[in-house]
Amino acid sequence: MKTIGLIGGMSWESTVTYYQILNNVIKEQLGGLHSAKCVLYSVDFHEIEECQSNGDWVKSAQILSEAARNLEKAGAEFIVICTNTMHKIANQIQETITVPILHIAEVTAQELKKKSITKVALLGTKYTMEQDFYKSKLIENGIEVLIPNIEDIKLINKIIYDELCLGIVSEPSKKIYLDVIDKLTEQGAQGCILGCTEIGLLISQKDTKTPLFDTALIHAEKAALYSIGSTL
Ligand code: GLU
Repeated sequence: MKTIGLIGGMSWESTVTYYQILNNVIKEQLGGLHSAKCVLYSVDFHEIEECQSNGDWVKSAQILSEAARNLEKAGAEFIVICTNTMHKIANQIQETITVPILHIAEVTAQELKKKSITKVALLGTKYTMEQDFYKSKLIENGIEVLIPNIEDIKLINKIIYDELCLGIVSEPSKKIYLDVIDKLTEQGAQGCILGCTEIGLLISQKDTKTPLFDTALIHAEKAALYSIGSTL
């Protein structure tokens, strides 16, 4: 079994989900007392969010590269960055280590292709929805991406940082998310990517008919399978 290196804490609310999924998948796959071999480097999200809002991606790349190097030194055989947004600097992190990064958008694209989804809605932070680093991975895989209108982007983003990353789950926010998903479904989305690792704390498949692709669940499951050499 390969040792998984997790860069977590962005936010820690969803890193908890990763840890649970990794261990549940290994238990399901191998049975008995088997559990995931992993090392966690959990950062202070306050520092990372400050870099994001100041546009200081260079500093955030330094912080996360140091985390990745420490994970490699501690025996990690591949790296899982437990957030969609910080994949903006995945290439810079990769340059500083010799073990591979399991990219969250790439494993999500594989999952969409399995379900023959060619047009998908994307919810996440404003960085993930508006910038190209994430959408390009989907487009490269032949998947068209729909994002909310500007007002909805602001709302979706605000709820992530002001509520979900603080562990606050509220009914009004859930309704806002479900309404946005409905609008994008009406525009032709065949599914919706929960492209922020905390959104699964707020909504799940039972809340909507639109097929949901929860990136925290997909990423953690694929990481567990990769660690035991199962096909992704
Ligand atoms: N966990 C979130 C994501 O998946 C947002 C927190 C962050 O900015 O990293 O994008």
